Amino acid sequence: MNFELSDEVKGILDTAQRFVEKEIKPKAKEEGFKRDLVSKMGELGFFGCAFPPRFGGSDSGFLAHSVVCEAISRADSGLRALFNLQAMTVPYTMMEWGNDTVKNKYVADLVSGKKLGCTCFSEPNAGSDLASIETRIEDKGDHFEINGEKTWISNGNVADYAVVYGTFDRSKKYKGLCAVVVETNQPGWTTRETPKLGDKSSPIAEIHMENVRAPKENLLGKMGQGFVVAMTALDRGRISVSSGAVGLAQACLDASITYANQRVAFGKLIRDYQMVKATIAEMVAQVEAARLLVRKAAWLNDQGLPFSREIAIAKYFAGEAVVKCAGMAMEVHGGMGYSLEMPVEKYYRDSKLYQVGEGTVNIMRLLIADDALGVKNANRPRLHVPSDFRELE
Ligand SMILES: Cc1cc2nc3c(=O)[nH]c(=O)nc-3n(C[C@H](O)[C@H](O)[C@H](O)COP(=O)(O)OP(=O)(O)OC[C@H]3O[C@@H](n4cnc5c(N)ncnc54)[C@H](O)[C@@H]3O)c2cc1C
Repeated sequence: MNFELSDEVKGILDTAQRFVEKEIKPKAKEEGFKRDLVSKMGELGFFGCAFPPRFGGSDSGFLAHSVVCEAISRADSGLRALFNLQAMTVPYTMMEWGNDTVKNKYVADLVSGKKLGCTCFSEPNAGSDLASIETRIEDKGDHFEINGEKTWISNGNVADYAVVYGTFDRSKKYKGLCAVVVETNQPGWTTRETPKLGDKSSPIAEIHMENVRAPKENLLGKMGQGFVVAMTALDRGRISVSSGAVGLAQACLDASITYANQRVAFGKLIRDYQMVKATIAEMVAQVEAARLLVRKAAWLNDQGLPFSREIAIAKYFAGEAVVKCAGMAMEVHGGMGYSLEMPVEKYYRDSKLYQVGEGTVNIMRLLIADDALGVKNANRPRLHVPSDFRELE
């Protein structure tokens, strides 16, 4: 095993760290969506690591994607969502399942940050249970017509392009699902932003679709493959989410080390108390273990090997780790943890998402346990998915 990052990945990480110092840290206190940051990150190639040059990418891989996403999340966890929407669950899913028209029309503009994407699985009555999706996607001969409601859609109110999951036949349950690319600039597509606890650099919205149209060539995969498209998208999205969790957990540790090295209580720096040391040690171990799990899964994906099981374990562990680390950071900061002057209150708010998005803690536990118990193989075949997009050039 070689745990050393390649020179190429180190170079991308270096660019990301300089971007953090110049562009993110000075505005870290201003919570909210910053469109200009998306464009700058796109221009610097942060979303393109796993994409071939034909689509504006650098072909540096999923491990590079993970490392950059971690570095950005360490500075602002809310920006982590972009690595999902401008890379994994939107353009990567288009590249993986779309025809040439879809790939050529949408992918490069999303990866470069010129256009914004969103991915629409969740509905009022369907979150963890995607087979219960109620949004209707009807074949009208020369186009699809879409009617339904989506909730909790990151970038939902700002996106130009959406991957919408719906059903063409509810009686078929998950076999009746399909996925289509929708251009949001049309009558019938209306959104309302949802106020939320944390991760405020990434807006969330409810979407109402009434007779929304999509051309037939915007179908991803085939009719009835929507569930499989969703599972592959979620596997890739889990790389971004778990990398973001590691970055935020690292930020909790960074802040705790700084504070423990400054704060004096009972005449001594609090770092000299064994119980504070134990907390720091626990955080270090959680961050390191989560990082190794995430990078292993990303590396497997780079090798073209199955990684659904490994990314479920990584997502589960990193999601739990970041929430633990945010709690421990609050503890190390004492009353100052509760203050709006310190960063850790934001970390605490931001952390909770990592136990929910891209599959809840329980859903990850189900995947992992069913695999271990021999009930269901987590790395089950995903029908035909080309593993190497250079083959498609
Ligand atoms: C900040 C944020 C951003 C999001 N962004 C997006 C987005 O961009 N696109 C999108 O489509 N969705 C998005 N979501 C939605 C997210 O994916 C869902 O919230 C998540 O999948 C859980 O679905 P739910 O909220 O309906 O919870 P439910 O599925 O109702 O689950 C509620 C509870 O029951 C548990 N549970 C459910 N089923 C089982 C089971 N079979 N066994 C054991 N426990 C179970 C869950 O683990 C959870 O604890 C986002 C959510 C948040 C909070």
